[in-house]
Amino acid sequence: MASKACIFCGGTPLTREHLWPDWLRRELEIKAGFDWRMQQESDGTTTRDQAWTAPPFNQQVKAVCARCNNGWMSEIESAAKPILQALVRAEGRQLHRRMQRTLATWAFLKACIFDELHPAERTVPEAHRQFLYEHKEPPPDGVWIRVATYEARDIGHYAYQGIRLGKRGEPEPAEVTVYFVTMTAVALVLQVTGSLLDEWRFKDVPYPDEFAVAEIWPSSARVDFKQRNLLTHETLIGFTKALYNVMGSLTAPVPRPL
Ligand SMILES: [Zn+2]
Repeated sequence: MASKACIFCGGTPLTREHLWPDWLRRELEIKAGFDWRMQQESDGTTTRDQAWTAPPFNQQVKAVCARCNNGWMSEIESAAKPILQALVRAEGRQLHRRMQRTLATWAFLKACIFDELHPAERTVPEAHRQFLYEHKEPPPDGVWIRVATYEARDIGHYAYQGIRLGKRGEPEPAEVTVYFVTMTAVALVLQVTGSLLDEWRFKDVPYPDEFAVAEIWPSSARVDFKQRNLLTHETLIGFTKALYNVMGSLTAPVPRPL
């Protein structure tokens, strides 16, 4: 199922958009010795292995119009590029507030674009996507974005979980209300978490110190992202599912997978 109008502005016609920008795909091609493999998880328990006819980061989605793609989206890509170039190589950086905002905005945009790989079960709710379009940054309330560093055994990993969590006794919401999206690009791990529900907040998730997870959204004065601790592949897989565990330990409602 493909979108017929731009997921941000509603405009037409749609253009094809690569999942990753050109420079990053070239960076990935340096590691051509890797097995091209990308896993999509939809509910934290099932992993979907997709067969790719091309390296996954060459894949395109058709979900945005040329005006968005060449306009504000391109500005976000350009702003994020110098930061990403260091982080995908695990060089580490001091991330000041503005850099955190730039990186978080890029990650949130990617979460929206990756959703178009499976538009029938989108994770980012309409209201959050529209906030990005209108304000060119992630929602300041209800979205938490974190970064970590990975041993890069897979060239890229993408896992998404969306839950239609509602209040007890009320009908199931029509769209996802709580979501987790984890993406890796070489060594960089980006995790976008969001919630439309006041009852579900994902601040101060107790990740083990050795994960060296840094929160970049909401932004803070400074994050010292050294990138010295690498998540192993197995830990990464656990990390993509960590929030289910967090949710399970919080309160009574049982999360219902999509
Ligand atoms: Zn558009």
